[in-house]
Amino acid sequence: MTGNTNEKTCVVTGASRGIGAEIARDLARDGADTVVNYRSSEGEALDVVESIEAEGNNAIAVQADVTDKKEVEEMSDIVQDRFGPADVLVNNAGITVDRTFKNMTREDWDRVVNVNLGGVFNCTKAFYDDIKQAPEGRLINISSVVGQQGNYGQANYATTKSGLFGFTRTLALELANSGSTVNCVAPGFTRTDMLADVDEEIQGKIRNRIPLDRFADVDDISGVVRFLASEESSYMTGQILGINGGMEW
Ligand code: NAP
Repeated sequence: MTGNTNEKTCVVTGASRGIGAEIARDLARDGADTVVNYRSSEGEALDVVESIEAEGNNAIAVQADVTDKKEVEEMSDIVQDRFGPADVLVNNAGITVDRTFKNMTREDWDRVVNVNLGGVFNCTKAFYDDIKQAPEGRLINISSVVGQQGNYGQANYATTKSGLFGFTRTLALELANSGSTVNCVAPGFTRTDMLADVDEEIQGKIRNRIPLDRFADVDDISGVVRFLASEESSYMTGQILGINGGMEW
């Protein structure tokens, strides 16, 4: 892959673990100054930064709970001080709180909505002007195949992940006159802590529905995000890219 995020500043939310950590490593490998955001896993975030620096690239870890507007604004000030304005924001931070709708409480609903959509609102607000003014601005939202298909026990999560489709298409229109693009990646089931939390029997049932007959690895997802962050994708905007082993199209 070409080094075409070279000298860009890329912010990845929820990058201490899982998909976000690999996206951060991949963008840094392309030469970007990379911001590894996390909520509570400081040690893991610092490990991600260390692995990026070991490859000769620049990264910083910045703590901010994406649901907290003030912390997110402070993060954007830190990014500005250390690396200058952001070119790329990857809205990756996300959680699940799974229950059938019958058993789902309003608190279960709100927790997921607050992170998966409220966090996207806060982070996009904080970096909107940077992305609009960047020569090759990129907003990349991480949704899920569950946003496309729904999933038993995930009414809250599926709703937030479908919500990102409308958000992506609308922001694509609103940012188009600046040349900045907005796209969405919808991963299938991917080997991270989030998948490890799913009961093994259910994992087996999911696996049977994947034509490519394997769960995704984090680098299956990060490679596509790296492409969307690059100049090579400059005529793509408002798109939803499924990376799901053939589960959905
Ligand atoms: P994960 O392994 O559970 O990691 C979640 C990351 O999000 C962690 O870095 C965590 O930080 C961070 N985070 C959670 N709440 C946060 C908050 N309030 N503020 C800031 N950071 C927060 O998850 P993953 O599987 O990599 O998922 C990443 C994204 O991909 C999510 O949006 C998820 O919905 C989506 N996705 C995942 C799958 C899958 O099968 N794994 C499939 C489709 C889509 P801390 O460690 O500090 O808590």
